[in-house]
Amino acid sequence: MNEVLLIKSGELALKGQNRSGFEQQLIGTLRRRLRPLGEWQFILAQSTIQAIPLSAGMDMEEAARRAGRVFGISAYARAARVPKDIRAILEGCAEYLAPVLRYAQTFKVEAKRSDKTFPLKSPQICETAGGYLLERFPHLRVDVHRPEVTVMVEVREQFAFLHADQVKGAGGLPTGSAGDAAVLISGGIDSPAAAWMMARRGLRLTAVHFASPPYTSARAEEKVHKLLRQVAKYSGRVRLHVVGFTKIQEEIRQKCPEELFTLVMRRFMMRIAEQIARENNCHALITGEQLGQVASQTLQALVCTDAATGLPVFRPLIGMDKEDTVRLARQIGTYEISILPFEDCCTVFTPRHPRTRPKLHFVEQAEAALDADELIREALENTQSHWIE
Ligand code: ATP
Ligand code: MG
Repeated sequence: MNEVLLIKSGELALKGQNRSGFEQQLIGTLRRRLRPLGEWQFILAQSTIQAIPLSAGMDMEEAARRAGRVFGISAYARAARVPKDIRAILEGCAEYLAPVLRYAQTFKVEAKRSDKTFPLKSPQICETAGGYLLERFPHLRVDVHRPEVTVMVEVREQFAFLHADQVKGAGGLPTGSAGDAAVLISGGIDSPAAAWMMARRGLRLTAVHFASPPYTSARAEEKVHKLLRQVAKYSGRVRLHVVGFTKIQEEIRQKCPEELFTLVMRRFMMRIAEQIARENNCHALITGEQLGQVASQTLQALVCTDAATGLPVFRPLIGMDKEDTVRLARQIGTYEISILPFEDCCTVFTPRHPRTRPKLHFVEQAEAALDADELIREALENTQSHWIE
């Protein structure tokens, strides 16, 4: 029996004329993610993508796992593909779904007939298949309201597809369909979660990390690589730019009032990230800031931060509680990496009493002591870039 992946695109259905472009993007992403497992053919029909393995012995479990991390997919299922013949359908159900039906108590059959020439109508398919499965698995009972297993029979153009309950996909929009943005990524819990959320809305990611050696170590940077590798399982590969930030931090420490350290530093991050963003065709910045979480994330502080850049700043966590973020980070597999104890440049130069209601003109005055353009130019020169796959 041939096994395939049946993949349902999500919100795409809403997008009218853009839909076919989105679906092509989705197939492109699936092609890249599944290709390392072997050869595939993709067929798109009635807003369902059939991913058909062409190589023998394909690891379908891993394929399903990978499909589950592709944005733009609302649901997916591993399915058996059989000829459009009621005998083949009945035997196919009994054989292919035996492992689930054997351990279930209750089931029902649902049928979808997109080929209207198929001799049996949907209710007849359900009735016939239900009766047949009761004979083959006498311990089962039919429960149409709350079945443990729903057996799906989809009669499509060329084949019939048989599967049990479908699995919820990663949702969102296909990678790249919303354009490109640059995420400011630290080793913390928040920024990887923010990156994931915006990638889910269709943004392709470029990443910017600020490192302050020797205050921050090579292992701290390796942690950022690790975090991005986890995010990239969903978002696709990410270009990471690591900016040498030591000199800027030292200058700030020498020349600016301590209570403004973090804010001035954050504004430098924004300016540098903006330049890297523009060079890489990114039209927005992304941060993991959350309103009120720390002194540099009060409303007044965010106003000062925003004033440093002409790009829109996306802060998808802004209205979330820390607990919500932790739950998300666990779900996407970044949490365990984030809690590894490594220093970040922000934690190295933390003021004892940061100003929580900074006024922009005081911050600008404080910055006047620095040669910002020259510092930024040097930092950009001192930037290294890598692909994170
Ligand atoms: P995170 O968990 O993402 O570190 P946080 O709550 O600890 O966030 P801050 O350390 O104040 O908050 O940083 C706020 C945001 O600034 C981060 O979410 C991130 O987008 C950005 N940021 C902080 N440090 C760095 C860094 N070293 N490199 C790049 N971006 C950074
Ligand atoms: Mg942090």
